[in-house]
Amino acid sequence: MISVIVPCFNEEEAIPLFYQEMEKIREQMEETFEYLFINDGSKDRTLEVLRNLASQDEAVQYLSFSRNFGKEAALYAGLKEASGDLVTVMDVDLQDPPEMLIEMKAMLEINADLDCVGTRRVTRDGEPPIRSFFATLFYKVMNKISQVEVVDGARDFRLMRRHMVDGILEVSEYNRFSKGIFAWVGFETEYLPYENVERVAGETSWSFWKLLSYSIEGIINFSEVPLNIASYLGFLTFLLSLLMMVVIVIKTLVFGDPTIGWPSTICIILFLGGLQLMTIGILGKYVSKVFLETKKRPIYLVKEKSKKKVD
Ligand code: UDP
Ligand code: MG
Repeated sequence: MISVIVPCFNEEEAIPLFYQEMEKIREQMEETFEYLFINDGSKDRTLEVLRNLASQDEAVQYLSFSRNFGKEAALYAGLKEASGDLVTVMDVDLQDPPEMLIEMKAMLEINADLDCVGTRRVTRDGEPPIRSFFATLFYKVMNKISQVEVVDGARDFRLMRRHMVDGILEVSEYNRFSKGIFAWVGFETEYLPYENVERVAGETSWSFWKLLSYSIEGIINFSEVPLNIASYLGFLTFLLSLLMMVVIVIKTLVFGDPTIGWPSTICIILFLGGLQLMTIGILGKYVSKVFLETKKRPIYLVKEKSKKKVD
């Protein structure tokens, strides 16, 4: 059985289109399907659409959150509920081409050592250039300063074997950055490249700022380098100030003290003040993560669940 996990946030228009396309694929594959739609606190008629779909098709199940918990939480909830030996994660806007599932499945069948087939966008057509620029920059920085390898353009869309899913479920941290977690759990993953597809209906819920803060989350969650920057900078300034002291002492001994040190004093104060604030800021980011993690809050809360279970 294949479990298809689909997070939905304000997707009343996209769900029927997605289901239609997926049914075509389902006919072409011999496995039984299980759809798991997660309504992530949508404000539109998403839940009604899901209720209808579930009443028409045995294979459709849904979970509805008590509020918007974010895509990462929805993915986690879906993985937790999924009972298939193979599990796939897909966006509902058809930006993850369903027909690729057939090839992904075939790849897993041929190679028993492979645990996961992921997908990678090779183009970013139809995306604002500024977004593409920062996305590429993010992958470069992320791969430089963290231990996990996040493939540029890799999507969440992937087909995984059961043991990989169980691995991901064990990573039950509150601050979830799925792209990092997928990489962190390891396992053999191959990526299928494809051309970017634009969403069929509705609008993206990711603004530029939301994406920027998502990237910062990703880096903070998977790298200690920003935290170390504080110590590096501190050490460097310490060395520099030692040098400065020697220079000043010698200068005073040789040329006397004409008391014209005001500009340099202000410069040093500003420089050190800025440095301190910046490093305290970095420290604060990590402390806030620890704060949230120690609260041990649930990742999501369910308000409504589809009644039946397929098995
Ligand atoms: N999504 C979600 N919760 C959110 C935001 C998005 O479950 O808070 C879902 C959304 O319904 C879609 C997927 O995550 O199925 C990807 O979102 P979107 O297409 O808006 O992102 P983009 O493709 O523009 O990166
Ligand atoms: Mg999309």
